[in-house]
Amino acid sequence: MKICIIGNGIIGHISGQYLSKKGHTVDCISPDIDLANELSKKNYTNINNNKKDILSVKFKRSDLIYCKRISDKYFRKKLNGFFALELACEMGLAKYWGANLALKGLSNDIKELRLTDKEWAFIESNIPFLDVQKFYKNKIRNNQISNKIDSYMKQSTKKGIYLYSSILAIWEEKCILKKLPCEMPSEAIYGSSKAADLSYNLIRGIVEKIDLNQSSNKSKITLNVRTGINNTKTMEYDYILIACGTIGSYRLVQESLEKEFINKQFDKLDHHITLSTLSFVPNIPYPKDHIGMSNFDIDMKINNEKLYINYFPFKSSLKAILRNKLNNKKLLFLKKFLTTLDKLINKLPDLIIFPGWWINRLYISNIYLPSDMTSSYINYIDKEIKIIGGYRSDFEKFIYRELWNKLNYKLRKINIFNLYPRPLKVSVGADLHYASTLSSYTDKQGRILSSKEKNIKIIDSSSSRYMPTPNPTLYFIARAIKLIRNI
Ligand SMILES: Cc1cc2nc3c(=O)[nH]c(=O)nc-3n(C[C@H](O)[C@H](O)[C@H](O)COP(=O)(O)OP(=O)(O)OC[C@H]3O[C@@H](n4cnc5c(N)ncnc54)[C@H](O)[C@@H]3O)c2cc1C
Repeated sequence: MKICIIGNGIIGHISGQYLSKKGHTVDCISPDIDLANELSKKNYTNINNNKKDILSVKFKRSDLIYCKRISDKYFRKKLNGFFALELACEMGLAKYWGANLALKGLSNDIKELRLTDKEWAFIESNIPFLDVQKFYKNKIRNNQISNKIDSYMKQSTKKGIYLYSSILAIWEEKCILKKLPCEMPSEAIYGSSKAADLSYNLIRGIVEKIDLNQSSNKSKITLNVRTGINNTKTMEYDYILIACGTIGSYRLVQESLEKEFINKQFDKLDHHITLSTLSFVPNIPYPKDHIGMSNFDIDMKINNEKLYINYFPFKSSLKAILRNKLNNKKLLFLKKFLTTLDKLINKLPDLIIFPGWWINRLYISNIYLPSDMTSSYINYIDKEIKIIGGYRSDFEKFIYRELWNKLNYKLRKINIFNLYPRPLKVSVGADLHYASTLSSYTDKQGRILSSKEKNIKIIDSSSSRYMPTPNPTLYFIARAIKLIRNI
């Protein structure tokens, strides 16, 4: 069968690998940054830049800033109280992601998808699963410290707070010990560099419209694809899979639907609310050479609401913040001073009287709350996406009167101390975990309800009615495999 996947993000990529290995001819149509740049020169000048946004340290990276600037010009959006990201590059958002697979936090949700052993084996053969604490145990620190951490984690679980070592999409064999992955690009992080073993054809282009209701005497489905400022192509396929990301898929489907089937009102956009704080975790020190991404996670419930927390070494976040600032020639002396100080601190023994003991136990924690606490909406009017971001009406009351105190109390019981009196609210949408924009237009199989064409499916999170609380990408990968298993 000749299949087209639209969008070469992580969902499109893995689905492409899966279907081509099954023997199908697969084309994946997606833009690269040069195409977006070329098209945006003619088309648009709209950039959404809200200086007050509280975002991941990844947004200090100059390549991400450049990619976002160009992509925003082409993927036009009007945002009200919402930080949205669409990227015109190979691997999409996953080129810059934190790669936390939240395997243990998602295990029940993934079980519900009932993938076969073969399907799961396919995912495992494509994506690396690195257990951070095991990696430290095998490669970096002595058994005594590792065993202490293991037994502390087990004890916490007995108290009803599930503490897991983070499982990251990192290739262990590509890790360099003195230069472990952090917020910067790295060969070791899945998605960070070009995939070497593509088994499908990658076609540079942007799909502008799909013929959703073509006449029944045509056996193929037609697409309009833009490949340059003045170049468009019509292409035909037996099967179409849409994987343009939650916002991109919404835009493409709205552009393709007949007017009578488009909701005039805004549609719900599910995403996480993220709180952030500085935490002191005396029982889980990170080594001098550490992975500057999530090192461990907590899975717990408060008032029956599931919470998922990623813990990032504070030292790496501080380095990320300083990295750009200290590149200024005038501050070279400060950079040298801080590097020498860091080396000195690292040489001191891990004893409570030395500063390294305290620093290596400080973490930035990102707390994800269930998506039903958000109240954000999306619409497509006059060829432009509009998103209005917001919280559920009782959000502030719930966070400040109930959640924060109870969370601190529970964490203190296992020796974790949140150091801010109140949590920071990460900008609405800046969790970048989105879902559900098209759930009212699709059935459970991801098919578009109003389309006669049954060989079209939306396989990314936009067609999902459910958004798990832990970092959800692995769940959506598993779901995509389920949706395409019978093709
Ligand atoms: C800084 C950061 C940290 C993150 N950390 C984590 C984490 O730790 N764990 C986790 O689970 N998730 C994380 N995420 C979220 C994760 O990256 C996304 O959920 C995931 O990458 C979404 O993949 P996707 O394929 O659905 O969509 P996208 O990545 O958005 O890909 C869609 C692709 O489709 C293309 N496209 C769009 N429109 C069209 C069109 N009309 N025609 C052709 N192509 C089109 C786009 O250019 C893009 O290449 C993070 C994201 C960011 C940015």
